[in-house]
Amino acid sequence: MRETHNSIEKIWGDRTPYYEEWPTRVDERIAEEPDEWVQSACVLCSNGCGMDIGVKGGRIVGVRGRGVDRINHGRLGPKGLHGWVANNYPDRLTTPLIRDGAALREASWDEAMDLIVKKTREIKDQYTADAIAFYSTGQLFLEEYYTLAVILKAGLGTGQTDGNTRLCTATAAASLRETFGADGQPGSYADYDTTDCIFLVGHNMASTQTVQWSRILDRLDGPKPPKLVVLDPRETNTTVRADVHLAPRIGTALAVLNGIQRLLIENGWIDMAFIEEHTVGFEKLKAIVDEYTPEKVQEISGVPPETLMRAAEVLGTAPTLVSSVLQGIYQSNQATATACQVNNINLLRGLIARPGCAILQFNGQPTAQNNRETGCDGEWPGFRNPYNPRHLKELAQIWNVDEVKLPHGDPAHIMEIMNHAESGSVKMLWIICTNPAVSLPDLQRIRKILAKPDLFVVVQDCFPTETTALADVVLPAGIWGEKTGTFTNTDRTVHISYKAVDPPGLARPDLEIFLDYARRMDFRDRDGNPLIPWTDPEGAFEAWKRCSKGQLCDYSALSYAKLTGGSGIQWPCNDDAPDGTERLYTSLVFPSDFETAESFGHDLETGAALEAEGFAKMRPMGRVMLKGARHLPPFEEPDAEYPFRLTTGRVVYQFHTRTKTGRSADLDAAAPEAFAQIAEVDADRLGIEDGEMVRVTTRRGMVRIPAAIGSIEPGHIFIPFHYGCWDEQECRPRMANELTIPLWDPISKQPYFKTAAARLEKDDGAGSASVPGPVRKGEEKTAVKPAGKPAPRPHVADYLSILLSANIEFEHACETVTAHHATHLEIVAGLKTLKKYSTDVETMLKPFLERYGQQPPEKPEALRNVLFKPYPGEFGLIRDLHDLYVLGQNSVIAATIVHHAAEGLHDGELLSAVTTIVDRVRMQAQWAKTNLQHQSSHALVVPS
Ligand code: SF4
Repeated sequence: MRETHNSIEKIWGDRTPYYEEWPTRVDERIAEEPDEWVQSACVLCSNGCGMDIGVKGGRIVGVRGRGVDRINHGRLGPKGLHGWVANNYPDRLTTPLIRDGAALREASWDEAMDLIVKKTREIKDQYTADAIAFYSTGQLFLEEYYTLAVILKAGLGTGQTDGNTRLCTATAAASLRETFGADGQPGSYADYDTTDCIFLVGHNMASTQTVQWSRILDRLDGPKPPKLVVLDPRETNTTVRADVHLAPRIGTALAVLNGIQRLLIENGWIDMAFIEEHTVGFEKLKAIVDEYTPEKVQEISGVPPETLMRAAEVLGTAPTLVSSVLQGIYQSNQATATACQVNNINLLRGLIARPGCAILQFNGQPTAQNNRETGCDGEWPGFRNPYNPRHLKELAQIWNVDEVKLPHGDPAHIMEIMNHAESGSVKMLWIICTNPAVSLPDLQRIRKILAKPDLFVVVQDCFPTETTALADVVLPAGIWGEKTGTFTNTDRTVHISYKAVDPPGLARPDLEIFLDYARRMDFRDRDGNPLIPWTDPEGAFEAWKRCSKGQLCDYSALSYAKLTGGSGIQWPCNDDAPDGTERLYTSLVFPSDFETAESFGHDLETGAALEAEGFAKMRPMGRVMLKGARHLPPFEEPDAEYPFRLTTGRVVYQFHTRTKTGRSADLDAAAPEAFAQIAEVDADRLGIEDGEMVRVTTRRGMVRIPAAIGSIEPGHIFIPFHYGCWDEQECRPRMANELTIPLWDPISKQPYFKTAAARLEKDDGAGSASVPGPVRKGEEKTAVKPAGKPAPRPHVADYLSILLSANIEFEHACETVTAHHATHLEIVAGLKTLKKYSTDVETMLKPFLERYGQQPPEKPEALRNVLFKPYPGEFGLIRDLHDLYVLGQNSVIAATIVHHAAEGLHDGELLSAVTTIVDRVRMQAQWAKTNLQHQSSHALVVPS
């Protein structure tokens, strides 16, 4: 093996100090002299370093950095230099597998795909497309994601789609949408080259993006070094270089960031001209952060006032600032609200969209950005807004399909999908290049769900994993180096990666698998032509260019030719910016008007969606939104039984569930085992020695792993999440996610991996009985339906009937109120119109009650009977209008639910009818409200 440096021992390599232009240093590691070098980029963290793949005799024999690439200037980190050996690992999946009882047997592609297509059709026909769920990954290429997105949205029309990007970058996207109106990283890695200050928030960059950390180390050792402020509860290789280290208790970062904003405002370290011209929400934010005095921040977080003030001074007086955020925030309490406060700090200072000034809501995975852009997870293609009818119409036109065929609204997130699978309403789950049996929270439950006999599980992956072991069909996939495609890193740089070698055995690139599925399913457009006409990666890329044209993530002027031979290129890349775009928003106009916004945003504290009305009220109109939130304690706080705060995370040598990095002997030897990092005082108190086995227990499970003592705050436990059991003889309890809580951020829906209450004990072998045995699939008897349990049926009939009853009741209520206030002619006239609305609705519902059946609710008159008591005079009118409003809202809720059902059923006629019905019943409630507003002050104030 020849290597330019030993990256296991010297992770970040030799220093090349600089200011402005980062010198080139080409790192290389090869087993043999390659016959040829093939252009690619690394996919083992979100940095996305440009690299070449060395090939000899049809095998990958090494890699080298691309000196010409803007991202890494030739450098590669330990995972990049070592990860490629996994491609050649002997246990690659090379043939499709189909479950046969407790075992998986080899099958042909035809057999496997025919089975999948048969199951899809059966389930779709019997239970609708929403009974079919897909859980994708942050590991595919753009072309594969886009093809999958078209299959999911325009082919199947299922709303049950998410990606494992939910676990790592969902909050990055959500926080950008909340602040700017749309996803899209405003900054550029080049901003690190000149900035005066770097703020890393929950971002242990030395471990997670080692090459980017080399860049920062080179700045710190060069002329004009930037100041470094780091917020992290642990002491890490990142924090040891910090000028200020903020180490809050786990789950309290929001309070610290509020305290910093308060000090910025109080000391005048803000740019009022920028705030007035380019932001909304300042006064509201100011009122919130004003509560966070240094003393209060200390009480909540433990951060001493002098440390907080020093951090605020550094951040408040730096002429330029690059802030970045990662999992320490994204997977923690109040994730989106906290990430938004980091945006606020740059924006209060007006430090955005110019050299040295950037916000980078870092991504956790390579190519995660493409999942978000193309809409395979919780998003819609091209950052389109599912609640903007024009955006949906545009997509329907691009794909030439009926708009009603598309799913509507936000797709379900993975934990919701798991809930549906558990309850039985999701019948088929297709998992693509991800390992939920190790990476999701509350693992015992997740494994049981995946093993359910009535859940048809397809897993598409390159290696056997803890998840393929629970599959009904396993599809062997080609991986990086074995297929061509593009992907986009955190700072919007698009790289091309060419196929260097063939996939092993019968394994196929993911794109081929999706195209095969689409062909077998015979998805067609409105004119009867194949929905997906492209047949190769470049065709998919060209299709994506058409879909992204005119959007913020515009790829229209990129091409395979342009991406070949040189550096990666940053989107937007279009006719106005044919060489790409270094920074977004240089005109200081942001995508926050109704037409461009990807989302109408949320209330940061509760997660309530603002919808179009709430968004319009904020009047952002191209300005950024400064949104605040108060600190709320984590759901699970330490108590007498579970006195420790548990957090989980990564180590530098491993990636995700070690599917690849665990198959590199060097990387695995450098980090072979999970551990529980604990503080010295806690170890002393419990008599625990370094390396001694401990038991960590939460309300959900237990792990037995060695202790690693030091570099963490007292009362905290850190466990890396990578370690499953695919390489273990016995499945030992060492997975961090046995312990984590099945709860998620209310806005981004990213699970809270970093906040749980735990107990720590020296492992004396006790408690073995409480460790559940491994979950296996195919050994269970087919579930016998309990006697007397009704057969499953759709419940749309129930809500159509509830909506009908609600209108009949409203009609009766109009008669009652008319009788109560017969002399109030304006009211009587209005009620006559409202009553007519209700009878119209009843007529409109008739054909659908015939189509879907009726399930009349019990005692429909119950609500009306407790309302509408006769009171005298004008006060009586107020009470009746109040009650009418309550009854009207009942109809609005029922109509809204039927509207969602019509979308799920893709029933265009019902959708059209219920859209009119929603308008009518809303008007009924609004009429009551209008009259209440008009009458109530007089009626309540003047004695009567
Ligand atoms: S920093 Fe990330 S992208 Fe670069 S070589 Fe290392 S793992 Fe790969």
